[in-house]
Amino acid sequence: MKFQCIRCQITWGEGNPEIEGYSHGLCKYCLKEALTPLYRNRQTKEGNFDCFGKACGFCDQYTCKYRDLCLSNI
Ligand code: SF4
Ligand SMILES: [Zn+2]
Repeated sequence: MKFQCIRCQITWGEGNPEIEGYSHGLCKYCLKEALTPLYRNRQTKEGNFDCFGKACGFCDQYTCKYRDLCLSNI
């Protein structure tokens, strides 16, 4: 299935959109951008630094629940 981001229109995945059409959603970049204020707000409420998305590819907080998306290379 071929995917198309509803925000930036970028496409990814395999398949023939002329036959199957596109499946729509947010690409990783737009998802991260959309979730950043929400996650930072949560981190503050949890009594932590609002550091989501601020690490430059490395963070020593290995159990952080936001880690996968936070450190994803887009
Ligand atoms: S992975 Fe590190 S920088 Fe990212 S949200 Fe978690 S603690 Fe913050
Ligand atoms: Zn996008």
